[in-house]
Amino acid sequence: QMNVTDAPFVRGFIRLTDDAFKKGWHERNGGNLSYRIRPEEIETVRSSLRDPAEWTDIGLRLPDLAGEYFLVTGSGKYMRNVIECPADNIAIALIDEAGEKFSLVWGLESGGRPTSEFPTHLINHAITAKRTNGAHHVIYHAHPANIIALSFVLPLTDRAFTRELWGMATECPVVFPEGVGVVPWMVPGGSEIAKATGKLMEQYNVVVWAHHGVFCSGADFDETFGLMDTVEKSAEISVKVRSMGGAHQGIAPDELRHLASDFNVTLPEKFFR
Ligand code: 13P
Ligand code: ZN
Repeated sequence: QMNVTDAPFVRGFIRLTDDAFKKGWHERNGGNLSYRIRPEEIETVRSSLRDPAEWTDIGLRLPDLAGEYFLVTGSGKYMRNVIECPADNIAIALIDEAGEKFSLVWGLESGGRPTSEFPTHLINHAITAKRTNGAHHVIYHAHPANIIALSFVLPLTDRAFTRELWGMATECPVVFPEGVGVVPWMVPGGSEIAKATGKLMEQYNVVVWAHHGVFCSGADFDETFGLMDTVEKSAEISVKVRSMGGAHQGIAPDELRHLASDFNVTLPEKFFR
């Protein structure tokens, strides 16, 4: 048995929060992170967990998540403080047998509750775990400035964002060949925006929240952080190009197709119509 904060999955979680703050994506309490803990990982810290006492409604019914444990950032907690005091800023939550409630079994020691976006995190976990046969474990929400800026300029469609981001950096179609989804502006922090996001996570690993931020899904912390970083880097190039007066040349549709075939990925035809 080990201390929760010594467990490799917790160390990986903390490393992401620190790297992400340094990227400038997490002003104040902005953004949040969750990790679906493997059964063998929870066993390594079992002796540090308390028994579930109070149960809180998720606001959604997610039976596929029954009995799962999640590591999650606290609502109102600052990403930059996680590394300083993990036990005050993050928590382990257990989902009940109906998939309707959660109970905190470790962390948030000075009080608090999981992120206000916990419904979106959980519905995304349910959907991406199913879609990837259990491979995906990480859901990450950030507020990167350039992709948010683009949501004031581009049409708020999956096609417009996907083609813009693919076109601005050659690695993009290889890193996210399925494209990106876009949720129009909605009030954050509840089950309505969770359902709208979850619907898009059925086909994408990246969902943009217009005028707000991005959600990414991935198998591990490196892959998920790397995906956010790739999306935001491409958005930054787009903002620079537009600020210089706009592109004079770019990657042609047939060149995107050629890239996809050489890298063994499929780019959905709907993005070329
Ligand atoms: P929390 O502090 O509740 O995680 O909210 C931050 C945020 O980014 C809301 O979208
Ligand atoms: Zn947010």
